[in-house]
Amino acid sequence: IGNLGDITLRALETLRGVDLVACEDTRHARHLLDHHGIRVPTLALHQHNENKAAGRLIGLLGDGRAVALVSDAGTPGVSDPGARTVAAVRAAGFKVIPLPGPNAAIAAMSAAGLADERFLLVGFLPARVGARRTAIGELAPVNAALVFYEAPHRVMETVVDLATLLEPRREIVIAREMTKMFEQIERMPLQMAPTWLAVDANHQRGEFVLVVSAPQ
Ligand code: SAM
Repeated sequence: IGNLGDITLRALETLRGVDLVACEDTRHARHLLDHHGIRVPTLALHQHNENKAAGRLIGLLGDGRAVALVSDAGTPGVSDPGARTVAAVRAAGFKVIPLPGPNAAIAAMSAAGLADERFLLVGFLPARVGARRTAIGELAPVNAALVFYEAPHRVMETVVDLATLLEPRREIVIAREMTKMFEQIERMPLQMAPTWLAVDANHQRGEFVLVVSAPQ
């Protein structure tokens, strides 16, 4: 999710041993592979070519090759491409082996201090205002902490909608740029979050996970 050191020994060993690495963005993956001195061919597999690329992977697996799948941030298939590939590979009779590793939601939960609360990983809310507000309204009664992924250019409007549409006594943890140089993790009452973000001139930069505590 941003720190090249956050990779497991098993993932490194696997990446070294495969014949091909399928990745969301080959330049991104190269950066990671080069950093760890791994020289393996890559193949682009993203949301626009996933079915076709999955077909190629299945062909390679049929030839007895081993293939790894990585995404740009964290774990493939979690708010990222990968699920359709995994389903197709398994349906073709090949084994899919998970390599647990970084995940932005789990990293945020681990630093949120909301112990004993169950949580729902919502991922990205709809970009359109009406659909986003409807989605938040539907989530309001759910008896769990809510975990959102959000892009920097939309974080303010999302936080305003969360503060307006959810019970204002709920708390929010804003986790920004986790594992990177400007990491910032702040917990506050939900109603204070729009003002807190607004005073930060840099709030349109960086990656955000928003965790909202469960309703009381
Ligand atoms: N597959 C990834 C995972 O396992 O967490 C999620 C990919 S999703 C397309 C990318 C989103 O994750 C970003 O928009 C942001 O909301 C969140 N994210 C990724 N890296 C982050 C970081 N270092 N700090 C905060 N949020 C991050």
